[in-house]
Order: sequence, then C-alpha cells, then structure tokens
Amino acid sequence: MIRLNDIIDKVTSYSDIANDDLDSIKKAYVYSAKVHSGQKRVSGEPYLSHPLEVSSILANMKLDVPSIVTGLLHDTIEDTLATREEIERIFGNEIAFLVDATTKISLLPYVSDVEKQAESFRKLILATAEDIRVVLIKLADRLHNMRTLEYLTEERRRRIAIETMEIYAPLAHRLGMNWISVELEDLAFKFSKPSEYERISKNVSAKKKDWEKYTAEIVSLITAKMEEFEICGDVSWRFKHLYGIYSKMKKGNISLSNIYDILGFRIVTATENECYQVLGAVHSLWKPIPGTIKDYIALPKANNYQSIHTAVIGPFGEQMEIQIRTEKMHRIAEYGVAAHWRYKQGNSLENGNDKIYSNLRHLVELKDIKDSTEYIEAIKGELILDVVYVYTPNADLLEFPVGSTPVDFAYSIHTDIGNHCSQAFVNHKLVPLNYKLKTGDMVEVMTSRNRVPNRQWLDFVVTSKAKNRIRSWLRKEENCKAEQIGEAITQRKLAAKGFNLRHLREKKRFEESLAKLQFSEVNDFYRAVGFGNASVNDLLKVMHPRKFAEVAEKSKRIKSIINRISKDESKDAVLVKKYDNILIKFAKCCNPVPGERIIGFITRGRGITVHVYNCPKLLEVDPERRIDVAWNDDYSGRIPISLSVRCENRKGMLSELTSAVSGLNVDIVSADISKDEIGQGDAKFEVAVENIKQLEKLVESLKNLGGVISVERLTCTS
Ligand code: MN
Repeated sequence: MIRLNDIIDKVTSYSDIANDDLDSIKKAYVYSAKVHSGQKRVSGEPYLSHPLEVSSILANMKLDVPSIVTGLLHDTIEDTLATREEIERIFGNEIAFLVDATTKISLLPYVSDVEKQAESFRKLILATAEDIRVVLIKLADRLHNMRTLEYLTEERRRRIAIETMEIYAPLAHRLGMNWISVELEDLAFKFSKPSEYERISKNVSAKKKDWEKYTAEIVSLITAKMEEFEICGDVSWRFKHLYGIYSKMKKGNISLSNIYDILGFRIVTATENECYQVLGAVHSLWKPIPGTIKDYIALPKANNYQSIHTAVIGPFGEQMEIQIRTEKMHRIAEYGVAAHWRYKQGNSLENGNDKIYSNLRHLVELKDIKDSTEYIEAIKGELILDVVYVYTPNADLLEFPVGSTPVDFAYSIHTDIGNHCSQAFVNHKLVPLNYKLKTGDMVEVMTSRNRVPNRQWLDFVVTSKAKNRIRSWLRKEENCKAEQIGEAITQRKLAAKGFNLRHLREKKRFEESLAKLQFSEVNDFYRAVGFGNASVNDLLKVMHPRKFAEVAEKSKRIKSIINRISKDESKDAVLVKKYDNILIKFAKCCNPVPGERIIGFITRGRGITVHVYNCPKLLEVDPERRIDVAWNDDYSGRIPISLSVRCENRKGMLSELTSAVSGLNVDIVSADISKDEIGQGDAKFEVAVENIKQLEKLVESLKNLGGVISVERLTCTS
C-alpha cells in the first residue's frame, strides 16, 4: 500500500507547500482512515488504499493541495457515514464542494442504470463547469478503479470497462490528457475483450527485444543527421498502445505481423523552429510518403495537441512514422488541461478562453437534454476527437468531428440555417446534404423557407448540436400531428357513441372531466390520444360513469364495429348474379375487401355470406351451396379492417403510424398501442378502406416505416 509520505514527497517536489497545507493533507488522511476503518476493497486490501492511490495519481498530475486532500476524502460521503456538513466543518467549503461533486448519484431510487449513469454524469459536468478540478479527480478515481477492476465480478467488470471506453477515456482525450486516456483505453480493452487483448499484448512484448537493434540504429541515424544540421533534440521510439493497435487492425489499416505499423519514433526539441528544421533533416535522410505530413503545430487539434507527423520510407524500404514536437508541446500532449490550469485565474470554465475550456463548455451545454439515453449519446458524440477543418465562404476556419455533413455545418452557424438548409455546395460544386466534409473544403449552404428537417437527417448528422435541434423540431412537429390525429379520433369515437364534440366542448362538464383525467388543456388530451397514451373511452367513463363504466373489451369492440358497418354497407357492395335484393353479409372469418376475389355461400335462411375466394372456412362447406358473386364497381363505400402492427415501442411511433395511414386517405376508426412483454409495441388499427389496392398500399407503406417489424391484417380467425 502506498504511504502518505510518498504522496507528500511528490507534492513537495513540484510545489512549495506551507505547513497549513501539510496539516490538511494529514488531517484528511486521518479522517479518511477513521471513517473507512473496517471497510475493505473487493481485492481484500483495506479501503484506505484506494483514496491513497487516487491522491497519488493526482500528485502525478501535479495538482494543488485541495485536489490531493479531496483525493483522500472523495469516497467518504458516498461510502461512509460522513456528511457534507461535517466535511465542510472540518475542511472548509472548497473541499466540501469538491468531495460532494465527485460523489456519485447513487441514492435515486427506482431509476434504470442508464438514468443513474446520465444523472451522475450530468452532475459531474455541471460541477466541472464551476471547478475544473472535479473532472480531474473523477478521472484519477476511475483510473485507480480500472487498475483494480480484476477483483470485480465479470458482469460489473464488463459494464465499467465499456463505460470507461465510451466515456471516460474519450473525456481524458478531449481534455488532452494522453497518458490517462491511453491507460484507460488499454485497461478497458483488457477487461472488455480479454482474448484479443492477450493476443496483441503477447505479440507486442515478444517483438520488443527483437527490434531493439533496428530501433537503436534508426535513433542513431536521426541523431547523427540532427548533429550535422546543428539541431538539439531527443530521439526516442515506442510501440503504439495496445488498444490503438487493436482498433487500427480492426479497420484493416495495419497488421500485427508488420512491425513498422506498430512502431513510432518521436523527436522532442526545445523550440518550434527546431521542429521544422528536424522535419527537413528527416526528409533529407529518407523520402517522405506523399500525403502523410500533418502539421498540427500550425493547426492544433481540438484538445490543444501539437506536433508534426510524417511518414518516410526508411533504410530497409520500410514505412516509418515520426512525430516531432517541442518539450512544451509534449507536456501539453501528456497532461493536457492539468498542465496549465493552475496558471489561470480561478477554476471556473467561464474564465478560460482555452480550446479545452470551450470543449468542456460544449459538454455543459448538453445539460438540458432530458432523455437519459439521448443525453449519454450526445455526450459520447461531443467527445469524438477526430476532426476535419473546413472553410466558410468568408474564409473562416471551422472544426467538425470526422463524418460531419453540410447539415452539421449549417446548424453550427445558426439553428435557423440548419432547420431550413436546402442545398449545399462544397468548393462551388453541388453536393448531397449527407456529403462527408473533408479538411480543406469550402462549404456554402443555401436555405429555403419551405425546407424543414426530416427524420433521415438524424441518420447522417454527427454533431450533437445538429442532432438536438433536429430532434426538437421533429418533436414539435410530432406533437402537432398527434394533436390533429387525436382530435380526429376523439371526434369520430364520440360520434360513434352519439356525441358531438363541438357541442360537448361548450359544456363545463367536458373541461371538468378532462381535469379529472389530469389534462388541463383539451390539446393535451388530443395529443395523448394521438400518441396512444389516453383513450376516448376514459373520457366517456368520466363524463357518463353510469353509461360507460363497463366498456367492452378491445377485441369485442373491433368485432362489433366490423359487424355494424358490414351489415349497413354490404348490401350495395356486392352483386350476386341472377339474384336481386337478396340479404348479403360479409363473412367475419375473412372480412373481404372490394377488389379481392370473392365467392358467395348460400346459407339456410340467412341469405348469402361473402367470403374471400380462398377462405379456409369455405372448404368446410357444401360445394353445392357456393355461388358466384362480384364486387359492385359503382360502390364507393368503405370497408372496416383491423390491422395489427408490431413495432418498436418508442415515443411518437403511434403518431408516425397514424400519419402514414391518414396520408393515404384511409379513415382511422380507432388506434391503440400497447407494450408487450418483450418491450415491442403492438399497434391495433381499425381503418376503413375503399378496396384491396388501397389496403395493400397501406400495408406496404406501414412496412416501410422505420421501426415497424410486421403488419398483419386481423380477421376473426387470426
Ligand atoms: Mn473512489
């Protein structure tokens, strides 16, 4: 177990600490030891080892004394009987804030894992906005937890490893802290894909010895050339980190058998000028490979990373990658925001005009996304670091995540431009809106008042800003549609019961009934009906409890509607050869629709029932009694049909379905969606169609809707 004195030694090595500081570190140690006493980590070690290690990592980051103290105390509120008040009384407000901010939200009852994850992360980011040290302490905590992950159960190991890979490693990267992000990635890789990790790890360590001669020779060749050019600098080499190798292999960019792919050389100089001189020296030794020179000194990455990258054909015809940077750039590449935050006034994000501070401010801006899954997705999107640089027509340089499109570009300029962007030009040529921007593109976007966002845009936009704005537009539109549909359904259902919606609305009882159902506005009710979250029957029950208390169950209702309309309308729909004015009924078993091939069956004393030609029921009856029937082409009535649609159970699904239905000019008699045990939606529609063509078209267009799994026509036998 690491000792307190080791930590104190580290801290004194980089900062002058006063006696007061020393006292508070010791006090925190004693306090933490006291409240954690008796607790053990899953590894069997005393719990205190964890806060000590976290503090030691914070000392490696060269953070200030309050951060070191918080490292020692960070789990006290969460895991012991200590309270924020007590910590504030003993250690003061600053420490109490930091400890509280790094305490997970674990007390929320009845919420799912993703909600807990989202809320904890929201809290972390908001506290980071006030004080950037919060995120650094959290990363140190996560790093030590990852280093000791092997002691947890496999299920928890995997979950934490995935969260680390998806959020914490990218977060460290976004903050420019390369060493932490690399270690987090490798640990997360190890625990989420153990066999792949093992394979690459063995392979790389086996190669290390074999290649010492080669690397030593390259290093000496570069060093000699630099001496010849009279440049000072330090030449070193390293293998890429294991997860980096794995992800490049997966993309097919490199192979493990090619050693040059996993090896890199680095030259560190004193001045920026020397970096360019070194580049010249290296290129005079070996030919550069066209297209591989990247000047991140002139164009730093979004996390402040600076370096020159080049790849050359080495002495044995091999491809060699070389990074060139100054000492300062190297420190910033490894320590990122931790390398320089201390020199700023205050710790709040407001005060930094640095790129990294603006990265964090982007994360803070996402706080208003209510849906937990959407929030986590947006955070992940915002953490993507690979970027392209494009120009506006005014030659302003803008930065976007790789894969961004003109729509992302449009939203980054203004929400209105995004919402109405109609055409995009890249380097003066027309491109589709899903074109993937490349570094150096000059992008121009045209708008048109008539163009509005559509759901397909969500499939290709990358930035969280574009995603959010498109979603909120669609949500508004969906609500509006749901209201219209809900009103139509309400009207129709009430009419079926003999009520007139317009007259009802004038009565006070109508409003009172809505209020009883927790709707303050009639539009809220319509919207709920449109989304399938409320039903007109509920309203009727409240308005006329005696009359509608016992509403028939759903299936009975469907059948009764089919019966009712069938009886009324069948007479003119079908022509029976040779007979006139005969009683005709549609068979309930197959419920034929105009245009379908049909056949009649002469019942005993109940007229003719009309079946679909291949109705299985018909096989059971006496062939003698069959009679040819035909649809009446002049008939223009509508036939009721029940459809069952299996679909994703998500918000807005019903309104998408219903708007697809009404878009085809099909009347909706009723619509309902229910969730089944495997979480899918089961939407039941009663619609009135003109003919089989219309029905087929309807089924086809429902099937083509995103989220729809299957569409089935219901008959009494099915
Ligand atoms: Mn902890």
